[in-house]
Amino acid sequence: MRGTVRIGTLAGIPLELHFTWAIIFALLSWSLATGYFPQAVPDLPTGSYWSKGILAALLLFASILAHELGHALVARREGVQTRRIVLFAFGGVAELKAEPPGPGAEFRIAAAGPVVSLGLVVLFGILAGTLAGRPGAAAVPAYLAMLNGIVVLFNLIPAFPLDGGRILRAALWRFWGDLPRATRAAAGAGRFFAYFLIVTGIFGMLAGHAPGALWRVFIGLFLLMAAQSAASQVWLKEALSGLHVRDLMVPDPVTLPAHLSVNDAIRDYFLARGYGGFPVVRNDHVVGLLELAQVRAVSAEERDQVSVQAVALPADASVRTTPEADALEAMQQMLQAGRGRLLVFEGEAFRGLLTHTGVARLIQIKMALGV
Ligand SMILES: [Zn+2]
Repeated sequence: MRGTVRIGTLAGIPLELHFTWAIIFALLSWSLATGYFPQAVPDLPTGSYWSKGILAALLLFASILAHELGHALVARREGVQTRRIVLFAFGGVAELKAEPPGPGAEFRIAAAGPVVSLGLVVLFGILAGTLAGRPGAAAVPAYLAMLNGIVVLFNLIPAFPLDGGRILRAALWRFWGDLPRATRAAAGAGRFFAYFLIVTGIFGMLAGHAPGALWRVFIGLFLLMAAQSAASQVWLKEALSGLHVRDLMVPDPVTLPAHLSVNDAIRDYFLARGYGGFPVVRNDHVVGLLELAQVRAVSAEERDQVSVQAVALPADASVRTTPEADALEAMQQMLQAGRGRLLVFEGEAFRGLLTHTGVARLIQIKMALGV
């Protein structure tokens, strides 16, 4: 997920906000302050509705964070580290660095989030109960008890990658003893539920229930993408397991002379050869990597004067890997950096180029041949 800002770390885990979260935070505060709270507790001053709206939105944010932290801390106890926790429009996600070691661990990690949310339902419920004599003060905890209840129910739907889908996957994993197969089945259930939401949402819109129905379509589309990408990640892992960069790299790639102008590189290399990027060579050494993104950053008027070397990415650790590196880790490094290729170095000696399209093609061939 890109488009996030890091706002700190919690229990050693980086915490990031996706830009869509800020939009939802503003929309939610606004709709609570102008719609929900005025209806729930009438006749309060406008300022009081706004402070309630903002407070409730912040506490909902904290509740979702606690839910994700529940996943992350149980995962840590099971020996799985968390890369980061991201909060975005539809909730949050704790990105684990690896698959859980077994179905039991998967179950405990998946169940931890809903258990935390259920605890929050009880906590906010008790708080609302003790404040029952003061409806103005009780409205915020009552709202949070309800919302955390919805978080529990929604997450327990057996649609991978929701928590309920992970619990389903854990059960199938134990039953079949086969993680890829369990993932495919759980992702299938996720897709089914996503289509259900989209179709009922479209019918709802046709029947004139626009706002709620539109939400169903959005959440359905989001779940569809999430199920697809979770399934393809497992598939990628399966296809690349046991392989190293040396098995997948292009050993003798076409290289670009550093002194060439960007215009010449476009004409004689990018267009003539049809590749999306090249290692840049100066004095027989690979010194950088030039991809379409760097070419696009140069304006059309400047492309004649600017040399390839001036705009290429330097051949530092962020674009480097080694022949012995794990293929899947190298692919993840590439995807996380948003690049299409990595330079393969053994010590200071250039050995080849690992490309995203090359690996994808190889996986396609493996799939087609069933090997
Ligand atoms: Zn969860």
